[in-house]
Amino acid sequence: MSNSTALVGEDGVLLIDSGGKTEDAPLLQAAISTLSSKPVRLLVNTHWHYDHVNGNAFFGNRGAVLIGQTQMRQRVFSQKALMTGDTPLTGSALPVIVFEKELTLRFDGEQVLLRHPATGAAHTDGDLVVYFKNANVVATGDLYFNGLYPYIDVDNCGSIDGMIAGCREILSLIDGDTKVVPGHGPVSNKAAFQAYVDMLVDISARVTPMVRAGRTLAEVQAAKPTAAYDAAWGKLWLSGDQFVELVYKGVPRQAKQ
Ligand SMILES: [Zn+2]
Repeated sequence: MSNSTALVGEDGVLLIDSGGKTEDAPLLQAAISTLSSKPVRLLVNTHWHYDHVNGNAFFGNRGAVLIGQTQMRQRVFSQKALMTGDTPLTGSALPVIVFEKELTLRFDGEQVLLRHPATGAAHTDGDLVVYFKNANVVATGDLYFNGLYPYIDVDNCGSIDGMIAGCREILSLIDGDTKVVPGHGPVSNKAAFQAYVDMLVDISARVTPMVRAGRTLAEVQAAKPTAAYDAAWGKLWLSGDQFVELVYKGVPRQAKQ
């Protein structure tokens, strides 16, 4: 299950991500209604994966203006769906406001910074990180899975090093008091997020040289580069071997010049 974040106030509701199943959108709206009687006016998608956008049509049909990164919009209706039963998004489920790098929203007295990672691709090639400056809250999208090895969309330009670079940008924005809302898992903080990034850095440092040396995936998995982390990160969802496969596939075979 993915996380959504809502900003509520005089101007109405700004929602980040619309939930994983179409039928869950009314439940999400019901939860929002306990905080505000005003409508969702703006909906930001952190990336194209269906577990973050399946409520888009529900909110779009009720007047929300959808916002997403350029590549996210491109992917969301051109890709084969990740999960059984999902269909490409059309019409009111698609972002209306689309941008490349950065957009600031002034809403409910808040400055909301929407930022695409400078490296271009992290979890996917259309990620957005959402930073609420005054509230000191950051919604990371799927750059951060709290307590889980992260899925990396290597078929859509994602890579562990892109994830690390994107996460470091987030670290430079936040402080010890920031509430860090991951794409999946419980709300977190800078220290726990830093530990997650350190884990990614270490695993990348172990796997990358083996890939460059021409090792096969089976050889890299047999070397158990995630052994130190599997108990903490590899139990609930992706196993160490599954995560190594994603890391392996995303490492460029040659070092960048
Ligand atoms: Zn995702």
